[in-house]
Amino acid sequence: MVDFIDEGLIHSILEDSIRPERAEIAEILAKARECRGISLKETASLLNIQDEELLSEVYDAARYVKNKIYGKRVVLFAPLYTSNECTNNCLYCGFRHDNKELHRKTLSVEEIVSEAKAIEEQGHKRLLLICGEDAKKTDIRHFTDAMDAIYKNVNIKRINVEAAPMQVEEYRQLKNAGVGTYVIFQETYSREVYKKMHQVGRKADYDWRITAIDRAFQGGIDDVGVGALLGLYDYRFEVLGLLMHAMSFEKRFGVGPHTISVPRLRPALGWALDKIPFQVNDRDFKKIVAVYRLAVPYTGIILSTRESEQMRDELLGIGVSQISAGSKTSPGGYKEEEDKADQFSVNDHRSLPKMIETICQEGYIPSFCTACYRRCRTGEAFMEHAKGGDIHEYCQPNAILTFKENLLDYGTEQLKEKGEEVIGKALLEIEDAGMRLKTVERLKELEGGKRDLY
Ligand code: SAM
Ligand code: SF4
Repeated sequence: MVDFIDEGLIHSILEDSIRPERAEIAEILAKARECRGISLKETASLLNIQDEELLSEVYDAARYVKNKIYGKRVVLFAPLYTSNECTNNCLYCGFRHDNKELHRKTLSVEEIVSEAKAIEEQGHKRLLLICGEDAKKTDIRHFTDAMDAIYKNVNIKRINVEAAPMQVEEYRQLKNAGVGTYVIFQETYSREVYKKMHQVGRKADYDWRITAIDRAFQGGIDDVGVGALLGLYDYRFEVLGLLMHAMSFEKRFGVGPHTISVPRLRPALGWALDKIPFQVNDRDFKKIVAVYRLAVPYTGIILSTRESEQMRDELLGIGVSQISAGSKTSPGGYKEEEDKADQFSVNDHRSLPKMIETICQEGYIPSFCTACYRRCRTGEAFMEHAKGGDIHEYCQPNAILTFKENLLDYGTEQLKEKGEEVIGKALLEIEDAGMRLKTVERLKELEGGKRDLY
């Protein structure tokens, strides 16, 4: 049995910090503002806060840390569902094997390319391939053939993959095919709850899943994304479990998670639950995002369209650094919407241009940047920049340049006007005068017809 997670320790840390003192919280937040993370015990104290005033101090600290490390940029991407066939039967998921209501489909390489083109036409530059687990329908070739074809035929610059656990050799193939981040959610870090939710199929093996990140590293992938499905169990336990997992692989491989996702469980068509076991309310959800931001400041936080417009807008401020937009959650959904093929129903239906407009209105800058990955700032190299606090020196100019390109190629007149205003302000925020000048020159080059500058 793998011992990455000490469940007894998590419970005792949570019990010991049940009623955090005001002075203690002030001390933790002061430490968190140094952007070097906080301990599990300190994280538990923040998670146990109930007082609204103290919570707003947590949000302020998260806002500060996010701006310090990443600047004002928000990276955009879209998920591409390649298949909804699945041999597992996760009780909470609409794709589960026993759900007879779902229309099943696995896309061919041509269909995947056509979906990627539809995503590109919205203005996206990065996508996330995602599907159910079915060794016959979606083996490693399914992913690598799709990636080869997309990189060759579509102007998509970064492909991330969210897929079931693989063998080391398969991860190597994924790396060779040009994967950006490999993402996998443990769902729950509680063995007992995991067992209840995943009774059959390959996914029933908790250890096989929690060791997937190790095999990904062994296969040469160094940007990995993790997540706990919020709503299966006590969120405080899950946050600490995820951080314990992250600490364990960082210790062994020298790299922490590149991203943390915060999927919140939603009712799905044909799921096998009658209710969400541990419903996470909006207030606690907001707290979770802020606490992750403070605990692992150098890690990107990803928010999907599972969340509402209002929640997504609010969370931009307190720690989220990547969001999906214009998403479809069924295979083939971008070309033609099919009824009864979705994994879950989307809660924010705004198109990419609408989302761009909102990000601008909220005072942030939309980014389509894929530079770190293409400049080999991945894994440990990325972490060094991020931990050194200088990643925004790259992020801000690259956000400006990629946003400008998006406006030139896809923007309406109205969006261009708003966008130029945001770009003007963002330029002034580049501290290094030389870098600012270089960015202004590159903006002119983009106007002259050049593309893909970073
Ligand atoms: N099948 C692969 C796997 O299980 O790792 C790929 C990912 S699955 C399509 C994507 C993720 O969606 C799951 O890992 C789970 O956390 C999440 N998910 C499943 N059912 C959900 C629901 N009803 N509401 C919100 N998220 C859900
Ligand atoms: Fe299949 Fe993944 Fe859904 Fe589980 S969460 S039923 S493995 S698609």
